[in-house]
Amino acid sequence: MKIITSSISTALVVALLSTASMAEEATHATAIEAGHEKHWSYEGDTAPAKWAELSEKNKMCGLGKTQSPINVTTTLDVDLEAIKPAYTSASKDVVNNGHTIQVNMDKGSTIDIDGVSFSLKQFHFHSPSENHIDGKSFPLEAHFVHLDADGNIAVVALMFEEGKANESIAKIWKKMPKELHQDNELKLANIAAELLPKNRDYYRFAGSLTTPPCTEGVKWLVLKTPVTISKEQVAQFSAVMHHPNNRPIQPTDARVIVK
Ligand SMILES: [Zn+2]
Repeated sequence: MKIITSSISTALVVALLSTASMAEEATHATAIEAGHEKHWSYEGDTAPAKWAELSEKNKMCGLGKTQSPINVTTTLDVDLEAIKPAYTSASKDVVNNGHTIQVNMDKGSTIDIDGVSFSLKQFHFHSPSENHIDGKSFPLEAHFVHLDADGNIAVVALMFEEGKANESIAKIWKKMPKELHQDNELKLANIAAELLPKNRDYYRFAGSLTTPPCTEGVKWLVLKTPVTISKEQVAQFSAVMHHPNNRPIQPTDARVIVK
């Protein structure tokens, strides 16, 4: 079923970009996600609708045809390969970059997608969720960001629904940096693995980074099973971010979503 799962859009993007420039973009994208550039935001003159105008580098935010996030809806039922994340390394630190709260990982956590090993670099949070499932928004979404050896990007998305307090989130929030660019040490073995639900069934589609430069060719795997988070824990995150940090839903266009 790999012919269906590697969508036309991903193939096109990969074909258009040389491996070298793809790797450079990915590095740049990681730097952006890490907050090294500040000239975009979620509000006012630099809000998502303006991202493409802020820099030539961000043009895909406006011109792209496979942008993220999306409303995950009409799906094609195929026999998707099971994912087995091997998130065996510990976390390193937790950073407040103004756009999100990001947990950086020590080397060694990987996931195989289509027979290619991707390594987990970091995970971070959006509130409310960026992707929707069947029109439903969630109070929080985590993005586990992976790169392969060629700089290709894969994101595993995890939804949180309101319920009992999440113990893994509690460990991270305890060290959540309140100040912009604050970086707190966070040495937690298995933290990425323990956040995931037991059921790893997922939706898959081609998309982009949800932050400038909105690079396309990103493999998106959205887990179907949410985990819980308490209302208080969501409020703690929002109080530190000071604003919602979700890009609005983008058109699905000709994309095929498989499950
Ligand atoms: Zn994200």
